[in-house]
Amino acid sequence: MANPTSQTTLRSTASSKKLFVLLLKQVKPYWKAFTIGILFMVILALTEAGIPALLKPVLDGTFIEKDASYLIWAPLGIVILFAIRGLSNLIKQLAFAQVSTRVVYDLRKKMFLHLLTLSTNFYDSHATGNILSKLTYDVNQVTSAGTQVITVAVKDSVTVIALIGYIFWLDWQLALFVLILIPIVSIVAIIVGRRLRKISRSLQVKFGELTHALEESLRGHKSVKIFNGQEFEYTRFEKISNWVRRLQMKYEIAGGVSVPIVEMIGAFTMAIVLYIGTSRAGDSEFTVGSFVAFFTALGLLISPIKRLTKINDPLQRGLAAAESIFGLLEVPREIDDGKALWENPKGTISFRNVNFRYPNAKENALNDINININAGSTIALVGASGGGKSTLANLIPRLYNPTSGQIIIDGIDIQDLSLTSLRENIALVSQDVILFNGDVTTNIAYGLMPYPSKKEIEKAAKDAFAHDFIQELPDKYESLIGENGIRLSGGQRQRIAIARALLKDAQILILDEATSALDTQSERYVKAALEQLRKGRTTFIIAHRLSTVETADLILVIDQGMVIEKGTHLELLQEKGTYHNLYQTGFNEES
Ligand code: ADP
Ligand code: MG
Repeated sequence: MANPTSQTTLRSTASSKKLFVLLLKQVKPYWKAFTIGILFMVILALTEAGIPALLKPVLDGTFIEKDASYLIWAPLGIVILFAIRGLSNLIKQLAFAQVSTRVVYDLRKKMFLHLLTLSTNFYDSHATGNILSKLTYDVNQVTSAGTQVITVAVKDSVTVIALIGYIFWLDWQLALFVLILIPIVSIVAIIVGRRLRKISRSLQVKFGELTHALEESLRGHKSVKIFNGQEFEYTRFEKISNWVRRLQMKYEIAGGVSVPIVEMIGAFTMAIVLYIGTSRAGDSEFTVGSFVAFFTALGLLISPIKRLTKINDPLQRGLAAAESIFGLLEVPREIDDGKALWENPKGTISFRNVNFRYPNAKENALNDINININAGSTIALVGASGGGKSTLANLIPRLYNPTSGQIIIDGIDIQDLSLTSLRENIALVSQDVILFNGDVTTNIAYGLMPYPSKKEIEKAAKDAFAHDFIQELPDKYESLIGENGIRLSGGQRQRIAIARALLKDAQILILDEATSALDTQSERYVKAALEQLRKGRTTFIIAHRLSTVETADLILVIDQGMVIEKGTHLELLQEKGTYHNLYQTGFNEES
């Protein structure tokens, strides 16, 4: 979860201003509803002063003077006043709801669209949970905090001004006296508010830890069982829970203490007003009605003043959320300035002096890669884990861009190709196949335009050796798979991914450890499916198992970001180097 309070102290006024401008831009399309909301907010505030203003003539007219006309229009006045208030409140509420739901909707759309254009580097360096909370939590924060700030700034300040104006009109001397007390109450409110905020900040942190600890023990329940970690998990959880409890108690104490203090100040004020008021009882100007009206106005002043002293809270909360949202929207898109289209793809690839370093990494992940690959050939990348095989393969669809050097496909530098055109012709099957929520058909046809026919989908499934097991699923091709559907085995998922790749009919195929997580039974099928898939395509195979590698046209042994050996299976065996060693050891056993 985002922790909005932690970022608030660092923001400069300049960036606050910028955030305001950006937020206003979001509201601009809905300025009509927004203006209506503000207008009715002002009406609502003014009618608040109308309550005591109505009380005075009502009391003086009915109870004191027993004027018959008052007996009729005073009750009527009350009803009318509250009818106006009720209606204004409703209109204001709906107008702001209209604006804020629209703004949330617009921002979410913008953020999601933007996310779809961001680079792999961005995803590498940002926790998924963090991005999720921007789109869910922060967006709502911005509008809810924004509405709150506007309500306080407009409604409460107009209410305060109207009520103060009214008590001055009633009796300026008493009013002046009361006004001296307002800052005292405000100071108490501010001090208590600070303390509460501090506690609530710690509470938020501890609560985050609590969720984190809980999530870890739940997700890792198998490890907890096997390593007998119950005691450890319980102690940790209990400790944080207790922290949370203590902070909550502190919060209640700080909040609770302020109530009697503020009430005592209020009581003193009232006592003094009462004393001065009654000592002037003979004065015809200050009637019972004035008296009650004065008190009522005072009572009504307390809440809006309290909220005004605390306006900084929702303001900072909103700004922190806005910062997080606009920060995301400002992340530069994936570079896609190539205009060329890759027509009639053949699949020759050459790497020319390619170097690559991950952002913030100390060393290059790839060093001076020079390779030439013929169209339609199969290239195997082998070598110890962490050597750079996946990195090399990922450069081809430009999931990452080389730090220096060029990758040329069919004579075109891939930087000059549009990303869509480049990726249209590359299929990637990796170890962790992600299935989307939906049925088998939509999963196989994922992302394809025009949408393939049922026949084509079935043919791809057959070629991928997936048709038979799909037939055995409860709803065949309409069976739901993915997160909320049937759990498929690793091999079955892989064959769905291969069917997807077959259907995509791309000229370049990248298989990144596509067979490493399979049992022998499904491996037979997957291997057969892969043989089918690689026919006539330039195929990169990153594999642990020798059998796939042996038949490759070119084997590259990659170690610490460099191609240390290259050749065919037989050539490399004769070299008696690293490949030979790999062949002798693990490599051999696995096959
Ligand atoms: P292989 O596929 O041969 O096992 P990789 O290409 O995955 O190796 O990794 C090569 C090197 O780059 C490793 O040292 C790895 O730690 C590093 N690396 C891989 N992915 C990233 C990443 N997203 N960010 C930073 N470093 C990475
Ligand atoms: Mg890898």
